Amino acid sequence: MSACLPIETAQPRARRSAQARIVWGPRVVTVGGDAPVRVQSMTNTDTADAIATAIQVKELAQAGSEVVRITVNTPEAAQAVPHVREQLDRMGIDVPLVGDFHYNGHTLLTQYPACAQTLSKYRINPGNVGKGDKHDKQFAQMVEAAIRWDKPVRIGVNWGSLDQELLAQMMDENSRRAQPWQARQVMYEALISSALQSAARAEQLGLAHEQILLSCKVSGVQDLIAVYRELARRTDHALHLGLTEAGMGTKGTVASATALSILLQEGIGDTIRVSLTPQPGESRTQEVVIASEILQSLGLRIFVPSVTACPGCGRTTSTTFQELAKQIDDYLRLQMPLWRKQYPGVEQLKVAVMGCIVNGPGESKHADIGISLPGTGEAPAAPVFIDGEKRLTLRGEGIATEFQALVENYIRDRFGAPA
Ligand code: SF4
Repeated sequence: MSACLPIETAQPRARRSAQARIVWGPRVVTVGGDAPVRVQSMTNTDTADAIATAIQVKELAQAGSEVVRITVNTPEAAQAVPHVREQLDRMGIDVPLVGDFHYNGHTLLTQYPACAQTLSKYRINPGNVGKGDKHDKQFAQMVEAAIRWDKPVRIGVNWGSLDQELLAQMMDENSRRAQPWQARQVMYEALISSALQSAARAEQLGLAHEQILLSCKVSGVQDLIAVYRELARRTDHALHLGLTEAGMGTKGTVASATALSILLQEGIGDTIRVSLTPQPGESRTQEVVIASEILQSLGLRIFVPSVTACPGCGRTTSTTFQELAKQIDDYLRLQMPLWRKQYPGVEQLKVAVMGCIVNGPGESKHADIGISLPGTGEAPAAPVFIDGEKRLTLRGEGIATEFQALVENYIRDRFGAPA
């Protein structure tokens, strides 16, 4: 037999980046450095509708978004920003707001100082700040607003709006190479150069190094991995990570999880967003749930109790265990905003809901509290395991309700303040 060494648990690598602070009132969200990877999201309301925007920001924040970006595209939207903030403050929602600017950000940040002051961070897209002579001047106006109001900025490059003058210049340079690069490689270089050159320019204008975050978003998984690996190699600025225009449903979810997980495992990414197109009627908060799940699956953050459920197979032909798993999962998520305050540490809880005797007892013993439901042909009894021990058996129609009550009791006993 060959010599055997213990197998180490896989760990995400660490990348030390400069630490930015995104502030609203007493709420400070640190990003980069030794801060945890943060979850961001973006509204899809018309920001000029302050009430609708505040309601959606509240939903996103309650789902776990730590920073929320809103579109600021018109004078009406800029005027509405302080009202959005007021509504949120009134509702006790202190999540910092980021303004997303394109084309006219220099004007809006200058002409609407209350907007500039209220936002906690500005997103500047160097591909959309003006062409020719105007580019540098308008970029400088936005950076000067950030300096004046002491706000961090994200220099957010996107391949759908890449600085075309820079790209053309780099294509020209490439054509003069003895061995020209592929067009895709030139595009990668243009994305990274746009971000780094803009960051250097912002620092020349007086913005502190750690007040600058960068992103270079593309919509292909392999493209994103290639670009961010190189970006992370060349800079210590905190990086916002996301697969842009990820798409809808399963495709968008899987593509985002795949790309982000690979980079996060390499220590790349200080904030993340899942740019999911909501299904008709689907809540905007789904992008927050997915981003949180990515971080939790990688062991980088813990947001909610985890529910382990088996996929089911021919040994369990009823849907009882699927319904119970969903009911418990929904219930835990619904309670979390309250429980986070009431039961510190409750997010560490592990629950198992299993379909039959094959893996049910074993998996349930690994959880803090687990139930092994009867498979087809098994006696109609569901043993419940608490802290690795079989404690009782549930029977009959009320299994779901009784198990939920047991979970609640367990949480109260373990995470509640001593009486
Ligand atoms: S625990 Fe039982 S029901 Fe669930 S997948 Fe395994 S064998 Fe199938």
